[in-house]
Amino acid sequence: MVTVTVTAKFHNPSFSRRKEWQRASRLYRDTKQFCIDGWENGDFDKSVTTASIDNDLYSAIQNQAIREAKSDHSTNGEVRYRESQPFAVNNQNWELDTTENGTVVVGFPCVSQWWYTPIEVYDDIADPVDQLVEGDADKTRLQVYRRGDDWYCTFNVEYDADTSGETPVGVDIGERHILAVTAHGEGESMLVSGGEAKYVRRKYRSLRESLSEAGALRARNRVGDKEQRRIKDMNHKLSRRLITFAEQFENPVIRMEDLEGIRENSSWSGVYSWHFHQLQQFITYKAERTGIRVEKVDAYHTSQRCSDCGSMGTRDGDHFWCTECGRGRHADLNASENIAQREGEPCTA
Ligand SMILES: [Zn+2]
Repeated sequence: MVTVTVTAKFHNPSFSRRKEWQRASRLYRDTKQFCIDGWENGDFDKSVTTASIDNDLYSAIQNQAIREAKSDHSTNGEVRYRESQPFAVNNQNWELDTTENGTVVVGFPCVSQWWYTPIEVYDDIADPVDQLVEGDADKTRLQVYRRGDDWYCTFNVEYDADTSGETPVGVDIGERHILAVTAHGEGESMLVSGGEAKYVRRKYRSLRESLSEAGALRARNRVGDKEQRRIKDMNHKLSRRLITFAEQFENPVIRMEDLEGIRENSSWSGVYSWHFHQLQQFITYKAERTGIRVEKVDAYHTSQRCSDCGSMGTRDGDHFWCTECGRGRHADLNASENIAQREGEPCTA
């Protein structure tokens, strides 16, 4: 799923439209303020409905104002809206359509009626607008607001990205091998030993311990700083190597494990997990800079399942073998192959 925020300028809206939208902006602010004041004064509770709102806005817009006021109130408590507010309708109460001559129009209710108004579609929003017109995408609420003399609308479009022709590159990060990488369908992989990271950690830990006995706090902190710099330097090099590896394939998409919900006892939950988190961050922003998409995938059982048949396998040190299909391979590469094959969520730096 890709989510794109679209902001578009209305094309030459008539004077009567602008006048009505201006009025709607004021009424929208008043509705939100009415709700906040009512909750603060105890006039009504959070279950307030449009029946309590006495103004000319379409009820779909009043409803959205109540929703927004609720969210503002729970985050910020008593709120004073000083400016006119962008008025909004939920996804079901507005539409995007094309006229016979291909002009893209946005339709939404306001005060007196539904208005259908052309928007200016430039290249940067052409794709999501197309997807929406074709019915291949979902939209969120619509916001309408004024900037200077012009009127704009903004909304999100959600659609499936075109993933055909991409090469998934699965990345497993761990202690034994800091990087295990497989390009799915290409038969290419890369393994980087975790030896250097281990060496750095051991070296500085023993230094810290000896200083700890001597009670030298400042010296101990300096050792900590040095260790962090060494690891950071190493992570920069590792992420560069990975990007170079990924770049040799057509439309690479890098897939890594989603660290949310990583279970305890995995090497990710340990004291040194920040090394791994930092490495993921570096990979993500370097990939973004090179124009490579990054996805986070569910980490569940990536190292226990056979990447060929999906059965649970057995692991002995570096070796993984599948009792079901008989396939044996390097355990970390098996994990990275599993990661490469999973559908992920887009992720950004
Ligand atoms: Zn198998």
